[in-house]
Amino acid sequence: MYRFQFKGTDNINQFEELIKVFLQPSEYVIGEHADYIYEYKGDKDEVKRRLYADLAALTGKHPKWGILTGIRPVKLASELALTADPYKVLTDDYYLHESKAALTTEILDYQQEQIGKPQTGSLSVYIGIPFCPTRCLYCSFTSNQVSDSEIDRYLEALHQEIDACGEMIRKGRPAGWQVSHQCRAVGFRPKDCDVIFWPEHYQIESLYFGGGTPTTLTAGQLDEMLTKTEKAFDLSKIREYTVEAGRPDTITEDKIRVLLDHGVDRISINPQTTKQKTLELIGRKHTVDDVYKAFEIAVKCGVKVINTDLIAGLPEETHDDFMKSVSDIIGLGADNITLHTLAVKRASKLKELDENFNYRDELLREEMLRDAHEMLREHGFRPYYLYRQKHTSGNTENTGFCKDDKASIYNIRIMEEKQSILAFGAGGISKVYYPEENRLERIANVSNYQIYIERIDEMIERKRTGGIVNVNECT
Ligand code: SF4
Repeated sequence: MYRFQFKGTDNINQFEELIKVFLQPSEYVIGEHADYIYEYKGDKDEVKRRLYADLAALTGKHPKWGILTGIRPVKLASELALTADPYKVLTDDYYLHESKAALTTEILDYQQEQIGKPQTGSLSVYIGIPFCPTRCLYCSFTSNQVSDSEIDRYLEALHQEIDACGEMIRKGRPAGWQVSHQCRAVGFRPKDCDVIFWPEHYQIESLYFGGGTPTTLTAGQLDEMLTKTEKAFDLSKIREYTVEAGRPDTITEDKIRVLLDHGVDRISINPQTTKQKTLELIGRKHTVDDVYKAFEIAVKCGVKVINTDLIAGLPEETHDDFMKSVSDIIGLGADNITLHTLAVKRASKLKELDENFNYRDELLREEMLRDAHEMLREHGFRPYYLYRQKHTSGNTENTGFCKDDKASIYNIRIMEEKQSILAFGAGGISKVYYPEENRLERIANVSNYQIYIERIDEMIERKRTGGIVNVNECT
């Protein structure tokens, strides 16, 4: 048992996350009378560097993400790039392995070249549908398996939220009201004002339906939801319109046609693996054949961009299994492929079944990802976004690849955190970006869908007073 103590701070979580990269929870304690004592004097990275050195000496491990425990390395690199060479700082000060620093800076350069910075006044819109046909073994999202009447009740509340928010925005600014320079960015709060508002000239850059699985809805329900959304907001400047069709068994031709009629240009089909036995093991309840059929429908109907998620490190999968899945998906014609590493979180069934799953086969997961990256590059894909998750097996990362520069703007914006996001539905977290302070303020909806329905008026009120107000109310 290793004993650690941190003096001069109550926020030990920032250091414990690094300890967990090296040691299992049963192998250490944090408290007084420790063998390893660290004095915090205002520089957390300095403490982390000393901790990293001690843990590396104790365990012989040298984790490739160095002292970084945050989930947004590319965001950090973009901030470092303002004053220094990010590659050098990441390797010298954050102890990143050269391969991780190179991947991070390559993605940053590509994002800047392809997508650029968000325009002032632009925002992303997210709409959540918290239903799936079954619950996956590793799922920690808002995903429920409910009757049709429950879905109808949810949609009614969701439409209420969308309508109310659209109206708040449409009312706009009163005639003669002067806009100061501070007020032009979305959600920016003038210094002496205690309300936040959205300016008249907001511009929705991307619209994203996620979940759950939005295509759990029927074609008719999808049609109604998209129609309501399009009526509520000005989508004339939109650059990207995505609907997650995640579970292949929910995809039908009539649903895809509805999406296309509404101008949706991206869908995702997420098999996670093309091994039948694994699909059964993780509770997906769909077949590999369903995956092939879903691709066939999407290609036949003319979907412009198909995104696919795969997971490295699923239970009982070998290196060959994973590489076969990557190869199969490339063969099916996906335009974007995101490689995830399995993250076993507290809310998942898998965590209950195997407490230490994340610490098994770490090297195997690293090899899977390394070889999959190589295969994707050989087939013309480039990495365009990256994020890390806590509790990831093997302390690795999730990387999105795209072909023909079809990078997802929404995915990039969410990770770079320099744009406001308006989120609807159970579990939706709106974020208001304050450019002058470079910070986000969150306005969360409840994640339980039943409570969301019951408290829909409060959810709307939270947006009105916490994030969006009719500026007519300003004095
Ligand atoms: S498809 Fe996604 S959201 Fe639905 S149960 Fe599986 S992991 Fe959860």
